[in-house]
Amino acid sequence: MDRICVYCGSSPGHDPAYRRAARAMGEALLARDLGLVYGGASVGLMGTIADTVVEGGSEAIGVIPAALEDREVAHEGLTDLQVVGSMHERKQRMVDLADGFVALPGGLGTLEELLEVLTWAQLGIHEKPCGVLNVAGFYDGLVDHLDGATEAGFVSPAHRELARVETDPGALLDAFETYEPPTEPKVGPEDT
Ligand code: AMP
Repeated sequence: MDRICVYCGSSPGHDPAYRRAARAMGEALLARDLGLVYGGASVGLMGTIADTVVEGGSEAIGVIPAALEDREVAHEGLTDLQVVGSMHERKQRMVDLADGFVALPGGLGTLEELLEVLTWAQLGIHEKPCGVLNVAGFYDGLVDHLDGATEAGFVSPAHRELARVETDPGALLDAFETYEPPTEPKVGPEDT
C-alpha cells in the first residue's frame, strides 16, 4: 500500500475526540510511510488530518471540484491539489489514487463516500480494503444498521465484512495489509 483515502467531516464536530482521532489517523499514516488522499479542504477534520500529514513530511493529495476550490476552502499546503470538474470525477479519482479507504466521523458527504466505496467493493469495481474508525461510538448506529440489513437478508455476510470497524487507526491499517477481497458475486445464480 502507498496511499490511503480518508473520508471525514468538513466540520470538526463537537467532541474534541474527533479532532484527536483525525490527528491520530494522520500519525498512523506517517508511521507506516503511507500518503493521504482526501477531499482537499482546509476545514474541519479534513484540515486536521491534512495538516498532520503535511507537517510530518508525507505525501498529501487533495482532490477537489473546481466549484469548492472557488469557495476558498482548498488547502494550500498540500503536496498535490488536483482540481476536477465534478463530484463524480472527484470520487473516481480518489478511488484510483488510493490503496484503501477509511471513514472518520463526518456528515452526509462522508457517509455518501463511504457507502459508495463499499458498494463498489461489493460489485468488484475495486478490490481495495474499506474501514471505519469508530471514534467515541460515532459509528455504532451505522454498524447496527449494517448488522440489521445482514440479518434481514439484504447484505450477505461476506459483504458485511467489507466494512472493517476498528477504534484504533493502527489496527485498521494493519487489517488492511492482509485484506482479501470477497470472491462471492453480488447476486448469485440461486438469488436470481
Ligand atoms: P461532510 O461529511 O458532509 O462534512 O463532507 C465531507 C466529505 O465530503 C469529505 O470527505 C469530502 O470529500 C467532501 N466534502 C464536503 N465538503 C467539502 C469541502 N468544503 N471541501 C472539500 N470536500 C468536501
